[in-house]
Amino acid sequence: MAASIIDGKQLSRDIQAEIKQQVADFVAVGNAAPKLVAVLVGEDPASQVYVKNKKLAAKRVGIDSDLMRIDGSSTTEDLLKLVNDLNNDSSVSGILVQLPLPDQIDSLKVLDAISPTKDVDAFHPENVGLLSQGRPRFLPCTPFGIVHMLFRSKITTSGKSVCVIGRSDIVGKPMAMMLAQKDSALGPDMANATVTLCHSRTKNLAEVAAAADVLVAAIGRPKFVTADMIKPGAAVIDVGINRTDDGLVGDVDFDAALEIAGAITPVPGGVGPLTVTILLENTLKAAKLMSV
Ligand code: NAD
Repeated sequence: MAASIIDGKQLSRDIQAEIKQQVADFVAVGNAAPKLVAVLVGEDPASQVYVKNKKLAAKRVGIDSDLMRIDGSSTTEDLLKLVNDLNNDSSVSGILVQLPLPDQIDSLKVLDAISPTKDVDAFHPENVGLLSQGRPRFLPCTPFGIVHMLFRSKITTSGKSVCVIGRSDIVGKPMAMMLAQKDSALGPDMANATVTLCHSRTKNLAEVAAAADVLVAAIGRPKFVTADMIKPGAAVIDVGINRTDDGLVGDVDFDAALEIAGAITPVPGGVGPLTVTILLENTLKAAKLMSV
């Protein structure tokens, strides 16, 4: 039987409707609307699309947003000054520096400079540390979006075996960390997994992946995950966004996986919309943190 397709666009609409209501409730008691500031350095076309989508989504839920465009030849110091100004601006709830940054900029230095209470991407070491201790402030957008997707598709992770392919700081590592915790923001059923984190040096990767009840692919290689790497009935979450001559494709061979998986996310229209939605959730949370 063909896998059910997890509709990320619809799930995002549902969650955004809830966030919109929460933002309205927050404003109704006298608070200013939350405000997200996105910093875009240079002219990278994909980054421009991502930032535009984030601004549009913010508007839909009643979150104010500003886009700060910085010249592609800017220095680390230019960006540090801007981040410092935004940290000190009490009208700004959340700061997002769109990655990747040009080579001459020290990305880690810039991300580390964002105030941890405005760090809506949850990249700051303080927020990563809190997450690793099981007491997160902000949850990283893509991994938490995936937990939401599983939850709303009634796919639990407790006691199950999960394979995450890719160990980036943005997706793979925090995903593995979150699912291995004792509890989650959506309850213990959405944590407590036995997680294997695979990467480019993993031996027998196909075998490890094929043993997983939930398989998360965050590699950045088109159609890397083939049918033999999927356990029959598994939930397959495709994080990859790869631009190819055939258009956007994920890290999973979707057509082949459809025949064997129990549930699968498409690309586009899967994980991507959830990532943006969790950014909005985090921006509201940041505004609430500032208001207490
Ligand atoms: P990255 O590019 O920083 O790292 C890729 C990871 O894949 C590395 O940890 C590496 O060990 C692993 N890898 C590479 N080749 C491998 C191989 N042959 N076997 C096993 N592992 C291998 O990763 P990222 O930033 O997490 O991005 C991964 C993909 O997800 C990209 O396509 C990116 O565009 C996409 N992405 C999508 C979203 C979204 O919202 N949908 C968000 C973030 C990233």
